[in-house]
Amino acid sequence: MKHNLSNKRFLQNLAKTQPSALSFACKGRENWSLWHGELRAKIIELIGGFPPKAPLSAEVTDRWDEGTHVRERVLFHSEKGVSVSAFILIPKKLKKPAPAVVCLHGHGGPGGKAYVCGVSVDQEETDMITRHNYDFAAQLVKRGYVTLAPDARGFGERRAGSEQGCYVSGIVSEYLGRALVGQRLFDDMRALDYLVTRPEVDPNRLGATGLSEGGKRTLFLAAFDDRVQAAVISGYFTTLREEILHWEGYNGWDVCNHIFGILRLADYPDIAALTAPRALMIQNGKKDPLYRPEGVLKGFAQVQAAYEFLGLPDKAALDYFDGEHVYNPKPAFEWFDRWL
Ligand SMILES: [Zn+2]
Repeated sequence: MKHNLSNKRFLQNLAKTQPSALSFACKGRENWSLWHGELRAKIIELIGGFPPKAPLSAEVTDRWDEGTHVRERVLFHSEKGVSVSAFILIPKKLKKPAPAVVCLHGHGGPGGKAYVCGVSVDQEETDMITRHNYDFAAQLVKRGYVTLAPDARGFGERRAGSEQGCYVSGIVSEYLGRALVGQRLFDDMRALDYLVTRPEVDPNRLGATGLSEGGKRTLFLAAFDDRVQAAVISGYFTTLREEILHWEGYNGWDVCNHIFGILRLADYPDIAALTAPRALMIQNGKKDPLYRPEGVLKGFAQVQAAYEFLGLPDKAALDYFDGEHVYNPKPAFEWFDRWL
């Protein structure tokens, strides 16, 4: 046997050869609901399970008139000892309960929920929001949707000075067996719990969307919460295996993406397919340096195969647009208009 001193080569080879036991492509075609239930349960186990829900005990603490809509700051409990800060945007002159979309912020900057609501503290933030079309919650409310933007753990108001970002909290979370992905997923599910308590919201017309880290939060929220009837994952989709072959690209992947051993079970297209039969759009910019075209296209083909298997090809769409790591509002909003 030839000697090999490169762990990169070893791991890339492992990524090529080690199968994913619950990939939709190799298992489950004969029984969708069995596959679906098993993959969900195994991933929940990997992320450390879901804790008991704390009573929401939601409080609206502030209210602003934003012209076209009202913005409220809300606090609610998620699990024991954990509170979520959020903004809810409500169109003025609502006559009956409206469809609602959970709008999930990404990783850039300290603002968290504020950015997706178009709220900035200085010109630099305003320019960043404009460049990324990042204010999708504020844009959707103008189309008649109620939108809810919760802060993720480690961001916005949940970003205390000494615990900024994800690195230390992510590592500590792994020691404790509670992946950060799962903590954020649980909070985002609780955000839906809060949303349906609002009289302005039609609980049967709920969507989710987000950019980048917010796209990841959408991937998981749509996959694990059946209340999401339509989702748009923006700027966060590929196959993990394809990115491993690229390798250097992973320098940009933070610890908050980690789920220990996920590839033994499944890759991102399988997780995305858990959203079926509900409507799922995936959008990526062709010039987004974070994801290789091979990963996006191969990955989406796998998602599409799952929807075709269910006889629902229209309910999955890829918006592979000519742009960078930004939100692409028009097709996303039309997707929500169509399915909600
Ligand atoms: Zn992170």
